[in-house]
Amino acid sequence: MGSECLNERIILKMQQIVEVVIIGGGLTGAALASGLKKYGFDVAVIEQEDAPSFNPLSNPDLRVSAISGASVNLLKQLEVWPQVLRMRCAPYRVQEIWEYSMARVTLDARSLGLTELGYIVENHVLKYALSKRLYHQNVFLLYKTRLKNLQRINGIWHISLDNGKILQAYLIVGADGAHSQVRKLANIGIRGWQYAQSCMLISVRCLNHPGNITWQKLTPEGPRAFLPLFGSWASLVWYGEHNYIKKLKLMNMLQLKREIRLHFPDRIGNIIPIIAGSFVLNCSHAMNYILPGLVLVGDAAHTVHPLTGQGVNLGYRDVSTLITILKEARYQSDHWWSIKVLQSYQHQRQKDNHLMQNGIDLLYRIFSNQCLSVKIIRNLGLIVANNAGAIKNDVLAYMLGL
Ligand SMILES: Cc1cc2nc3c(=O)[nH]c(=O)nc-3n(C[C@H](O)[C@H](O)[C@H](O)COP(=O)(O)OP(=O)(O)OC[C@H]3O[C@@H](n4cnc5c(N)ncnc54)[C@H](O)[C@@H]3O)c2cc1C
Repeated sequence: MGSECLNERIILKMQQIVEVVIIGGGLTGAALASGLKKYGFDVAVIEQEDAPSFNPLSNPDLRVSAISGASVNLLKQLEVWPQVLRMRCAPYRVQEIWEYSMARVTLDARSLGLTELGYIVENHVLKYALSKRLYHQNVFLLYKTRLKNLQRINGIWHISLDNGKILQAYLIVGADGAHSQVRKLANIGIRGWQYAQSCMLISVRCLNHPGNITWQKLTPEGPRAFLPLFGSWASLVWYGEHNYIKKLKLMNMLQLKREIRLHFPDRIGNIIPIIAGSFVLNCSHAMNYILPGLVLVGDAAHTVHPLTGQGVNLGYRDVSTLITILKEARYQSDHWWSIKVLQSYQHQRQKDNHLMQNGIDLLYRIFSNQCLSVKIIRNLGLIVANNAGAIKNDVLAYMLGL
């Protein structure tokens, strides 16, 4: 669709009330927009970045996500997944986690009767597939536009944008990430902290095929993880104390390669690092996900340590729940955006997000502890976990959102 024609339609639309305005067209905002549109909602998405594009010959995006089976199911329902498969992604069948090799946990898709545990997908690929779907569904998409202000007058949100326009909506969704402006403008507080670790992501080329096993070696300084990507590419995730990661960031690719050889297990094989970037890590939780006519989803509501690759997956659980609740409420009543309806979303999602957040934080604390007795106990714990049979499968199914 021509962007001129789209913009004309958007400006026309701005003069009337849109049912739902989503601030943030990232991984969760775009998926929510697609799901709500599918069930007949009138939706607009405001995204500060440019529209995503995709070049099949490009190097992988530095940002990649482990997408669980439940998230893949959501993306299938939204008719986004076939587009991801047509571009590029990598299934993984097994996940291995260990600190010492005699105490290793192996999670295998076959134990749950699955062909894969999930997929490693470049964030950019997923964003592009979502944006294509939104264009196809005729969702009103405003790229390179920022939210400036919010005001609720007589039950209608007046949403001021940095292009000088004002949108009106019954429901506004904050899908604008960890530093959510919707959350700030709505005066919703957060609890949280920054971890004592940062994380470096490194895209590498492997001389041997990277396979379909993801692995993570736990060390008290932080895990070192390997995620296979498409072709001969893989992504390394290196957690460490802030100053150490800063030091790594200053290295050229040759120096980084030497450092990887020293600090990653030998099974990494022969790799060539191509590009690297670092991220600070936060854990945060909004005090409230909702206000009358306002709701937060994804990182705007909660962030977790990426150790277990759950951030987007939790966001997609929010999205699935919210779509179901709004769809049913609209069928039953005219006031599907009422606080009573939104309370049901908060009730379901806050508990689940708390549980996952606390679980991940506990794992982080146990495995970053340097005390010898904790080391012994945690490795005994890994041995027990690996032999826990049905319980291990139940935990795995929960992590996969199944
Ligand atoms: C190093 C690292 C590794 C990770 N690995 C995984 C993993 O393997 N698996 C997993 O599930 N999760 C992972 N995560 C977490 C995951 O990246 C996030 O949970 C996810 O990106 C959140 O998506 P979101 O759409 O809620 O927020 P975001 O991705 O932050 O998107 C928010 C969007 O809102 C836009 N925006 C912000 N403010 C405004 C504004 N004022 N106006 C208009 N637009 C605005 C932004 O441009 C952005 O596009 C990882 C995170 C990190 C840091």
